[in-house]
Amino acid sequence: MTEEQAILLRMRGRVQGVGFRPVVFRLAHELNLHGWVRNDTAGAEVALGGAPAAIARFRAELPGRLPAAADIQGVEESPAPAGLPATFEIRLSTEPTGARVAGILPDLATCPDCLRELYNPRDRRYRYPFINCTHCGPRFSIIRQLPYDRANTTMHRFRMCPDCDAEYRDPANRRFHAQPNACPVCGPSLTWTAADGRLLAVRDETLAAAVAAVRRGLIVAVKGLGGFHLLVDARDGAAVRRLRERKQRDEKPFAVLFPTLKAIHETCDAATPEIHWLKSAAAPIVLLHRRADGDGLAPEVAPGLPWIGAMLPYTPLHHLLLHELGFPVVATSGNLTDEPICTDFDEAVARLGGIADFFLTHDRPIARPMDDSVMALCDGEPLMMRRGRGLAPYSLPLPGAPDGLVAAGAQMKSTVAVTAGGNAVMSPHIGDLDHEGAARLWKSAVDDLIGLHGLTPVAVAVDRHPEYVATRGAVDLCVPMKRVQHHHAHIAACMAENRLAGPVLGIAWDGTGFGMDGTIWGGEFLVCTRAEFRRTAWLRPFPLAGSDAAAREPRRAALGVLREMGSDHPPPGWRPGELEVLNRMLAERLNVVRTSSAGRLFDAVASLLGVCQIMSHEGQAAMRLEALAGEGGGAPYPFGWIGKALDWAPMINELLTGGEVPSVVAARFHATLVEMMVAVAKREQLADVCLSGGCFQNRRLLSDALRRLREAGFTPWRHRQIPPNDAGICLGQAVEKGAAKEF
Ligand code: ZN
Ligand code: ZN
Ligand code: FE
Repeated sequence: MTEEQAILLRMRGRVQGVGFRPVVFRLAHELNLHGWVRNDTAGAEVALGGAPAAIARFRAELPGRLPAAADIQGVEESPAPAGLPATFEIRLSTEPTGARVAGILPDLATCPDCLRELYNPRDRRYRYPFINCTHCGPRFSIIRQLPYDRANTTMHRFRMCPDCDAEYRDPANRRFHAQPNACPVCGPSLTWTAADGRLLAVRDETLAAAVAAVRRGLIVAVKGLGGFHLLVDARDGAAVRRLRERKQRDEKPFAVLFPTLKAIHETCDAATPEIHWLKSAAAPIVLLHRRADGDGLAPEVAPGLPWIGAMLPYTPLHHLLLHELGFPVVATSGNLTDEPICTDFDEAVARLGGIADFFLTHDRPIARPMDDSVMALCDGEPLMMRRGRGLAPYSLPLPGAPDGLVAAGAQMKSTVAVTAGGNAVMSPHIGDLDHEGAARLWKSAVDDLIGLHGLTPVAVAVDRHPEYVATRGAVDLCVPMKRVQHHHAHIAACMAENRLAGPVLGIAWDGTGFGMDGTIWGGEFLVCTRAEFRRTAWLRPFPLAGSDAAAREPRRAALGVLREMGSDHPPPGWRPGELEVLNRMLAERLNVVRTSSAGRLFDAVASLLGVCQIMSHEGQAAMRLEALAGEGGGAPYPFGWIGKALDWAPMINELLTGGEVPSVVAARFHATLVEMMVAVAKREQLADVCLSGGCFQNRRLLSDALRRLREAGFTPWRHRQIPPNDAGICLGQAVEKGAAKEF
């Protein structure tokens, strides 16, 4: 008999809900090891007893055996506790104590094995819309609390039938300890109702009814992973128009759910990185270029834009629906414009009854609302616009930060973050907070993250803006508060994502952020560490009349730009009477702010080019300018300096008098902005340059800025996982507060 060794391994990282314990179980059995594996609040614990050579092999082979979604970030070894069992077993999780930091998994799109079973007539889950396994299925959308066990999910109400239970207990089965495991006998099922919630059909008849309704051009509300979506035939202009009218959504593009990758290729250009993301377990909406030839989508889907937000089916229910339909459908969040997505059936009937013609719903509750994630590829790398279903929550190491720091986030594209176990954990996209009920929504997102991680708030970081809903909500946490300047938060988020300590030159360009001097900033150049910043340059400020309307009406930005320059060029987009009122406001400084916003400069140029005078949705003018510029080249316009302010007036003068076509002007405008960035970088001579803020959702601007800064000898840094828009603000707030001296 060889000597016996006994050790305890504490695994940290993404090891829960990914089929980690079954892999450990099988490997231990193969190697004749005894002991146990169990989830704990920080990851998983593996106790091993046996021959030292076998234990060494276990450690060597485990990494190669891990399921695709697993990720071990650290292993601590200690002696095993006394009394290991004679065989190897999977044990129940430990009782929760202290901060829970085990990585919570996002929802995972249906895997190929489950799809094969879904379409196999001899399988007992043939056409079962809730099929899943340890590699796929709902996760974050069903987790009520940690650790991730069935009893802590919204599946707890479904008692497994003997067949499912046998799979769940069989280490050789691919549903071994799959928490959402279910089948037609014991699991969730579909119902089909009228717009007023009246039951019309159950189970097998529901899918056929839904397919028939969509084919007839009707609007069907479908309960997905993170909430209800509205589905309508994307080829049917009248149907899409009706959806726009009922949803009160003028021109904001709708996302499209395609039945297959082949159908996407027929409509859009998708290269390897785009395909990779479309088919990934996250299955986000990916912005794709529409093909000039064969399109097939109604123009009402995304009016005036060359891009389409495309996605593929990500649940068995969506697979079954789209398989049957065989054509693309609009799939948009079940809400009125800018309201949060509906998750509960009664609420959905109340709020969507006037929009949807029918409901296809089911009885597996949704633990928290989540919109679809939205991303694009820029230079082949991800550019996140929104992290929701499939990509949330997201955590990033923030070494040294204490547990229980709360970051309140921004007003638009709101997200919140908490710190736990040396990580910043970011919530899914919450939405815009300037509607009724927003404060409650924000509070529940904060409570959710605090509760899940078992935290006690110790401090809160907020934006400097006095009117933000989040900033007001933060007061109620009754903990010390730190105000973080908006644009520093943007850059701090970019530094954290790229593991930079600084100093860096931060280029924070966006629509609106509260400055240190009471004006509205947005075209900022900041020399930053994580804890501190100094404003070193900015875009020349100009006056904007009318606070809320100013952000919606590019013609107001154009008027302010012309006024600032003292130009007598007639401001476009106004009727004479209107202009008189505006001129008086500007002269008397009534409801007028000064802003250095790059976003508003985009608006001004869009207005001057006649591209957009009043926006139907945020960012519309800038998106149209980006689309207009396309890939076209163009020499930069001249620009100057007034002290530390970059003066765009020479550019505006030349673009007004040059007589060039709008696409050339748009390209040259982008080129000029990039040269302004290079000019400041050359003045500051800091090697690292961080790009953040909503303007860097513009792929033309981002790609050109990266290239030109590299050519000039700098190292530019961009976001890949964190959205450059205000969804990244909470991370930056956590970073600044976490880096502050008092910790
Ligand atoms: Zn699966
Ligand atoms: Zn069952
Ligand atoms: Fe911002």
